[in-house]
Amino acid sequence: MPSRTISTEAVPSSVLHASLSIEPPKIVRAEGHYLHTSTGTAIYDASNGAAVSCIGHNHPRVKRAMSQQLDAVEYCFAPHFTTPAYEKLAKFLVDSTNGHLQKVFVTGSGSEAVEATIKMARQYYVEKGEPERKRFIARDRSYHGNTFGALDVSGHKARRTIYEPLLSGSTSHVSPCYPYRDRRTGESTAAYVERLAQELEDEFQRLGPQTVCGVVFETMAGLTLGAVASVPGYLARMKEVCERHGALFILDEVFAGMGRTGTLHAWEQEGVVPDLQTVAKGLGAGYMPIGALMVGKKVVDVLDRGSKAFMHFQTYHGHPLACAAAYEVQQIIRDEGLVENCRRMGEYLGERLRARLGAHPNVGEIRGRGLAWAFELVKDRKTKEPFPVNQKVAPTIHAAGLQKFEIALLPGGGVVDGVNGDLIVLAPAYNINREEIDLVVQRTAKAIEYVL
Ligand code: PLP
Repeated sequence: MPSRTISTEAVPSSVLHASLSIEPPKIVRAEGHYLHTSTGTAIYDASNGAAVSCIGHNHPRVKRAMSQQLDAVEYCFAPHFTTPAYEKLAKFLVDSTNGHLQKVFVTGSGSEAVEATIKMARQYYVEKGEPERKRFIARDRSYHGNTFGALDVSGHKARRTIYEPLLSGSTSHVSPCYPYRDRRTGESTAAYVERLAQELEDEFQRLGPQTVCGVVFETMAGLTLGAVASVPGYLARMKEVCERHGALFILDEVFAGMGRTGTLHAWEQEGVVPDLQTVAKGLGAGYMPIGALMVGKKVVDVLDRGSKAFMHFQTYHGHPLACAAAYEVQQIIRDEGLVENCRRMGEYLGERLRARLGAHPNVGEIRGRGLAWAFELVKDRKTKEPFPVNQKVAPTIHAAGLQKFEIALLPGGGVVDGVNGDLIVLAPAYNINREEIDLVVQRTAKAIEYVL
């Protein structure tokens, strides 16, 4: 008798699914890199959900650590108590930054980590004696989460539009670093970076530099722009502008962090250290919902001299079970050399994708770093004209992947925005091997070629 028997009887769904009319495949078992459906299909998990399940499913070490934590303490209220699990995870994260970031606040998701970050930035300036700082600058077409504070900083119009009247409007948006569409013909990298730096400078001047709390950027633009790594020197230059005006430099690494791009923190490749940083997806690898805010010395020092408190808490922050799971995930990543594997396999994945699909007439660009890759699909490769939104190219490829080729891909881009091309994002597990990459490339290509 298998130990994980689950009923697979079809019942009418009471779940508010993404679609009210179509029920998604029912996953009854997840093992390694495969999701097993109630109808007996094994789907290769090539996007880790949304870049989450980075060590694969059903890892015995994580299950053991979680079981031990359940035996010890399943829950206590973090504003009043601490636990060894929370302390260990926080110390691991601080050490992973060589102590540049000194304190950690564990949340239940990426959006909550962004919320906590926004509040921390505001509190920092209030305690520092600069209460007029209440604005943020983020980037167009960015995504920082779906709760109101996080949506406020997000620049992705389609996700904001119907909630716009409820948003605070305290964030303005500048151009992202998006060479495929925004770099001018013949423009050097240095000139492109300077143009973006000038745009940021102009935005500071427009708002009044003394009103800005911080700049919130993704180190690598993840799901809405599609695995766009910054061009060399870009983030360092942005930080310079930000520091000149006394604002905090905030990096959202919910998507890019914890190994996904080939270093534990994506900023390690950029020559910058943020004042505040968020992480989430790869932190707990999906074993428990978890995110975290990491706080730099500059901010900690001000709070230390001031209120000596963070004016924000949640019932489930610092959850012991989530911390224990995430700590074990991080030990596995370290013990098995998975960040290094992510880098090596990422290079191989990029090569294979380009070789197999680089010449496809609707593949505008194949881009990525580490194990975060994306296709930008366009109607016309020369003009980069996107497909019309109502053609639903990315969702159709996603559906073809699931139904015909047994692969889970992540659709994005034009499907919700109509500004960029449609996106297909690949974000496989860090412990993928070459044979599996060949399989991912083959199945992805078949799904794309089936539709286009
Ligand atoms: N920030 C970034 C960069 C993300 O990619 C996401 C989710 O995709 C979030 C924040 C929100 O995280 P969550 O969905 O865990 O709330």
